[in-house]
Amino acid sequence: MGNSERIVEHMEKHNIDIDELIELFSTPWIPAEHKRYLKSHHWRLKKVEYFESRPRACYVCGVTEKIHLHHRTYANIWNEDLDDLITLCNVHHSELHSLQNRFNLMVEDATDVYLACAGKVGFGELKKNRALAKVAKEYLKRPNDDD
Ligand SMILES: [Zn+2]
Ligand SMILES: [Zn+2]
Repeated sequence: MGNSERIVEHMEKHNIDIDELIELFSTPWIPAEHKRYLKSHHWRLKKVEYFESRPRACYVCGVTEKIHLHHRTYANIWNEDLDDLITLCNVHHSELHSLQNRFNLMVEDATDVYLACAGKVGFGELKKNRALAKVAKEYLKRPNDDD
C-alpha cells in the first residue's frame, strides 16, 4: 500500500471530511491560493499529524462531529506548527469567520477576539490592544446581527 493510500485510509478511519472543509473554505474570506492549499497532500498529512496527538473536538463547545481545523495564522502556511491550528466545529468555525468578515480583521485578530468572546481566553490580553477590545465589545453587543 502506498503512502497516499495509507493517508486516505487513515482519514476514512478517523472520519476526516475533506469535502466539508473545502466547501466551508469556498467563501470569500479565503484567497484562491488557500483553496488550492486545502486540497493539497501537505494539508492532508498535516491534519493526520494534528489528530494523532490532539483531540478531535471543538475547542469552543466540545462537540466531536463536523470538526474543522482552523488556521489561527497563515504566517507559516505550508509549514505550520501544530499550535497554528485549532479545532472548531462547523458552526463555531463559520461564526469566527463571519466575525472576521464583519469587522474586516486579520485571521490572528479575529481568532483572538472570537475566543475571548467565547470565554476561552481571557480578555486581559485583548485589552492591551484597544482596537480589538472595542471589536469584542461591539460583537458581544450584537452577536447575530448579520446572520
Ligand atoms: Zn463548536
Ligand atoms: Zn478558519
